[in-house]
Amino acid sequence: MIESFKCSTCGKVHEGLPMSFAADFPDMYAHMNRDERDSRAVIGSDQCIIDQQWFFIRGCLEIPIVGSDEPFLWGLWACIRQEVFDQIEDCWELGGREQSRGPFKGRLANSLAEYPETLNLKTKIFVQPVGTRPLFVMEEADHPLAIEQQSGISRARALELASLVLHSRPGGFPDSR
Ligand SMILES: [Zn+2]
Repeated sequence: MIESFKCSTCGKVHEGLPMSFAADFPDMYAHMNRDERDSRAVIGSDQCIIDQQWFFIRGCLEIPIVGSDEPFLWGLWACIRQEVFDQIEDCWELGGREQSRGPFKGRLANSLAEYPETLNLKTKIFVQPVGTRPLFVMEEADHPLAIEQQSGISRARALELASLVLHSRPGGFPDSR
């Protein structure tokens, strides 16, 4: 949490700007209307299935901030194969799973407006100790999001990202509430 800063977008001082933003749903689900959601999708806090055909898991993509202990955090969804979905489900409550399971492969299921298209980018999924969401590590090394994850970003860039997100979607991602 950044205490306060002068925003590069609106020029005002924002208090308590969070260094994380979360997509509540995979984009495919977010773009569906209520009837479609009811008839085609099953969703929980961390998993989503659409048409018994598309499988999603929620995770975190960390971007190190140079000189800070806390990363900038994107809370995102990844699309995974059913087989992977089942494997992750099987170890949901398994102690030490982070040592014995994965990494798995998936593709990002959210577009981030702050970057060139991020939907469907390949990612590795590392399960974490029970109770913690998996970490996503980008595979497509030449994409700006992957470069930032690998190299880290400056505090100034972190503030810029925060202000962009804050102003483009107050309260979260489109359709996420
Ligand atoms: Zn602002």
